Amino acid sequence: MKARFKRAAAAAALGTSVLAGCSLPSSVLERVADNRYEPPSAPIHCEGRKVCDEADALYIADLHADTLLWTRELSDLLPEHRGHGHVSLELLREGRTDLQVFAAPTITPLHEGYTDPVTGEPGVCIPSDGLDLQVPLRLFGGAARYPATVLSPRARALRQAARLEEWIAEPGSRLRRVRTVPDLDAAEAQGEIGALFALEGMHWVGGDETAVRAELAELARIGVRMASLTHRFANGLAVGSEDCGLLRDPSRQDAGLSAAGRWALDEMMARGIIVDVAHASPASIAQITELVRARRAAAGTGAAGRIPGLLHSHGGVQAVCPLPRNLDRASIQAILDAGGVVGIGYWPEALCSRTGDLPEVALRFAASLVAVIEAARDPAFLGRRAQAGAAPIDPFAHIALGSDFDGAVRLKMDAGDQPALLQALAEMDCATLKAVDPRLADVCAATSPPALPLTPERLKALAGANARRVLAAALPR
Ligand SMILES: [Zn+2]
Repeated sequence: MKARFKRAAAAAALGTSVLAGCSLPSSVLERVADNRYEPPSAPIHCEGRKVCDEADALYIADLHADTLLWTRELSDLLPEHRGHGHVSLELLREGRTDLQVFAAPTITPLHEGYTDPVTGEPGVCIPSDGLDLQVPLRLFGGAARYPATVLSPRARALRQAARLEEWIAEPGSRLRRVRTVPDLDAAEAQGEIGALFALEGMHWVGGDETAVRAELAELARIGVRMASLTHRFANGLAVGSEDCGLLRDPSRQDAGLSAAGRWALDEMMARGIIVDVAHASPASIAQITELVRARRAAAGTGAAGRIPGLLHSHGGVQAVCPLPRNLDRASIQAILDAGGVVGIGYWPEALCSRTGDLPEVALRFAASLVAVIEAARDPAFLGRRAQAGAAPIDPFAHIALGSDFDGAVRLKMDAGDQPALLQALAEMDCATLKAVDPRLADVCAATSPPALPLTPERLKALAGANARRVLAAALPR
């Protein structure tokens, strides 16, 4: 979850709620907190264009939506009444979605300001012990039925897992729970929307090795099939990329995984829980990918069957949007080295877009894609891989969609617009990228064949085939 809550508004809402004796309706808080769908500046036309008309034949997978966090139901939002929310059953259908990852954020701290010690620029960072905005959200959104969720991140995770099950069980939902490879296959064969449950941060996991492994076993049992160790800050498992301690103190750049984080990771790989490095710090990503790479290499030497899955579910790249939250070149290379895919997000802070309008999202998504290609073709990286005897990498096989829909992000598009986004990507050529960065436009044109326009095979890969490949290799069979 992006969760750029407006500090003053949230504080005001909190203050009002206390004064009002807990009578603030949850919808008011949600409207403060959840930057919702906004009408596009120009109508989005899709019908009559090739990718849109043939979208049924594409496998469309989105690696991250935070819809479970809010009190609205999945059946609430209809395409003809768009507003306040990006994902609903109808919008997923309209967007021809084949697989949606539903992630559960479990702590949402209020951000703080900091001064970048290198550049002197002001920025925001996320403290580990900041005021948790999920407390008021839960207090006014179902606390009577689920009192434990007010203060317990674990209870919030369990509630969101149960909620997804309720949505799946709804008659006529055409959602299918995806926990195994046969589930993935069945959803596709039946034309249903696969729903995979993920955790965004496992903040409560800790203790000795036995306790950590037991908790991961329990999370696997309740249906968690993808998880990031931490969210935006540092917890007992790993350091996050926007952590205040990290950003204020360059001497902490090496801080990454804890011993508990390593045990958790080991258990995830053993149980078919896909490792998500979104929100992890560069050092955390380096250490996580190293462990996954070693495990994959061991799996490849004989044992048939599952191989550990790794991906970056949602976010941007620093070559296009230089914020700490976005991936630097070394992190992209580490993800590629570990066989992972980079899910590129749509929201303003992932792409450095101003409007959140679909054409701008498509343009800056395409630039991010070219930045991933550039990282993959970096001679030093290729040299290291050749020395290690690694096979050549096709960067187009490592890119995916990672919207962050319903993640408190400002967007003028929603899940129903996925085919229109793919259509816009298909129509883009390298010269268009000059508007973002002339250097990336040159990289695009110098790629052989040019990176844009996307061939139908490459479009198919990033629309969902890449994400599906990682899931199919890693999920229990
Ligand atoms: Zn997130």
